[in-house]
Amino acid sequence: MREELASLARDLRSYIETLEPAVRVEAPRSENTVGPPRTPQPRPAASDVKLQGLREEVSRCTGCALHKTRRNVVFGEGDEDADIAFIGEAPGGDEDIQGRPFVGRAGQLLTKIIESIALRREDVFIGNVLKCRPPGNRDPSPGEIEACMPFLKVQMELIRPRIVCALGRFAAQTLLGVDKSLSSLRGRVHRWGPGGTVKLVVTYHPAACLRYPQYKRSVWEDIQRLRDEYRAMGGRI
Ligand code: URA
Repeated sequence: MREELASLARDLRSYIETLEPAVRVEAPRSENTVGPPRTPQPRPAASDVKLQGLREEVSRCTGCALHKTRRNVVFGEGDEDADIAFIGEAPGGDEDIQGRPFVGRAGQLLTKIIESIALRREDVFIGNVLKCRPPGNRDPSPGEIEACMPFLKVQMELIRPRIVCALGRFAAQTLLGVDKSLSSLRGRVHRWGPGGTVKLVVTYHPAACLRYPQYKRSVWEDIQRLRDEYRAMGGRI
């Protein structure tokens, strides 16, 4: 299974390499052209084009049984060049219907958490370990996590966030590759990604905060830690 996944990740990476970079050369404007000067058109970065290719790939995925019950694949959304990424567990019912991450009650709380450090949802990337909803919002199975992780890995390689916030035990354990309790993983900054260059902060899942409001204080501390780390690396928030 591990070898199959490694090979899937390799295939995905080489597939992405084949996508054309979005380099459009503007024709030089001649001196005697009439009309108002043209505003330069924003050009999509190569990574945006690659992410779009990956989005299409993920939307066709049949890598685990969840494709049979999903209404929509939830690829993730936000700034595709974001410095900060929030990663949850898996889409719930509202997300499955809308095809967007964190849009239900837990999502509304996540939006407030993001706004509490003077950011907007559009400023960060929001995604999940699983791209399809487990029926009845049951816990993701190890097989589903293994089947879906190569997509998240490539997403992170393309977006290249500087700080990742793992929301809840599943995201934290999966991203860090450990089997420890959430309370033992939060409260510090982990090194993650190639060469440990990405900082990773663990906090409670917003759905857990809705169920256990006493967690909100810890989330507030974690998100302030994230903000301080970001400021320390020159981020302006
Ligand atoms: N919970 C998650 O982990 N992700 C979502 O997108 C919604 C709820």
